Amino acid sequence: MAIPEQFAVFEDFQNTINGRKSSTAETRHGINPATGKPNPEVPISTETDVENAVAASQEAFKTWSEVPLSERANALRAFADGLEPYAEDFAKLLTQEQGKPLSFATGEVQIGIKSLRDTAELSLPDEIIEESDARKIVVRYTPIGVGVGIVPWNFPFSLNIQKLAPAVLTGNTIIIKPSPFTPYCGLKLVELAQRFFPPGVVQALSGGDNLGPWLTAHPGIEKISFTGSSVTGKKVMESASKTLKRVTLELGGKDAAIVCKDVNIEAAAAKLMTYGFINSGQVCLAIKRLYVHEDIYEKFLAAAAKFTKNINVGAGTDEGVFMGPLQNSMQYEKVKTFFEGVTPEQLNLTNGGWDESKPGYFIRPTIIDRPAEDSRLATAEQFGPILPFLTWKDESDVIARANATRMGLGASVWSNDLDQAARIASKLQAGSVWVNTHMELDPRAPFGGHKESGIGCELGIHGLKGWTNLQSLYLNKSA
Ligand code: NAD
Repeated sequence: MAIPEQFAVFEDFQNTINGRKSSTAETRHGINPATGKPNPEVPISTETDVENAVAASQEAFKTWSEVPLSERANALRAFADGLEPYAEDFAKLLTQEQGKPLSFATGEVQIGIKSLRDTAELSLPDEIIEESDARKIVVRYTPIGVGVGIVPWNFPFSLNIQKLAPAVLTGNTIIIKPSPFTPYCGLKLVELAQRFFPPGVVQALSGGDNLGPWLTAHPGIEKISFTGSSVTGKKVMESASKTLKRVTLELGGKDAAIVCKDVNIEAAAAKLMTYGFINSGQVCLAIKRLYVHEDIYEKFLAAAAKFTKNINVGAGTDEGVFMGPLQNSMQYEKVKTFFEGVTPEQLNLTNGGWDESKPGYFIRPTIIDRPAEDSRLATAEQFGPILPFLTWKDESDVIARANATRMGLGASVWSNDLDQAARIASKLQAGSVWVNTHMELDPRAPFGGHKESGIGCELGIHGLKGWTNLQSLYLNKSA
């Protein structure tokens, strides 16, 4: 039975198992990162909840996998329509749980809803390899079974949808596991999804640190789509290997931006700082190190520092704020460690750093002028608003330095000489490479990482394929 109209209450957050809201004896809560105040209670799932969800998912798979693709696509479209009336509620909830400014939260909700509609347009038709008098050979894309979507805390609305939509379109069932830091949008989304999908097709479980490992180890689960850090991604893969589950891993990044000497300094600096500090730097595809040509370095640094000093930092609910707090205390403390060894002169450049006198996990956007090339800030993923600036003069040298990392998520080149920019871009080892922009994604183009930034991809036909098994069907025409 579908969940009734009581859905609209954005204060009650439960698991969804087999089409019904499901509570647990023990609960926990997230923290509003702008105020430090507790958000509502959410379930701490037990192993019994996991067993119940997996059983319901397996049962639902039997029929959902047989539903024609056009009907499954229509269910996604109807779900998108069903979310629209709640877009504002979701945006407010997203700011409350994640911290991002309301305007960006609104944008994330719209991106998520659009992603449902974009995915509904995709399909993986059978491929006929041979059709002769004697036989027909068909390559088919068949659903895998019960999937799990494990989601981080930086985009808790859109990343849930990025897992759910391709999973169910291709005929799988899915259990969503939101981050314990930001469980609210994910739980509410799945609760609303019950109006559009049969029981067991889309479920959600929230919990503590043991929930993810229970799911990745469970023999009834066939596919894990994971977005999170590279460290956790390796644990997920190790655990999934015991049952040879399929995995898609969308992991961390250390995106380099290479700035050539012919750019319009003011305009490029503004864009680059936006792509570095958006979501307080907590984006897998945020610019995380800049290589600026030495001929323009001082001017570029001055323009970037001027822009950065004017970035408005505050609670996501305040008018005109560009940067909210860090999402949680763990990340706040982690980002602070990247300031170790930073001098007062370096901090002064952008009035960077933090102010402990206020509640909330706020760190002001900070540029660090030429840290050591082998420093932690220049080499490890900071995932926060502190950005190292380095210089270059030789093209092959800067390409080698940009590639000298185990990460390979995104990278960009900034130049008005498109030949030079394309030449550099083609040599960068990353899943997404841009010229004169960064972070741009298209629903038709695969998004994934090279090296330790991931395995497999999301978005487009390539992302859809990750939710399927390949089957070669040989039909010989006479027995
Ligand atoms: P995280 O790896 O700590 O957690 C991600 C999710 O994994 C959470 O839901 C968490 O509860 C769960 N988890 C933790 N341990 C687990 C285990 N042993 N088994 C199964 N699940 C487990 O990451 P985070 O701190 O939430 O997110 C930040 C990281 O995510 C950054 O490194 C960022 O670059 C990356 N990220 C990548 C992408 C991408 O698409 N490539 C997008 C967003 C974020």
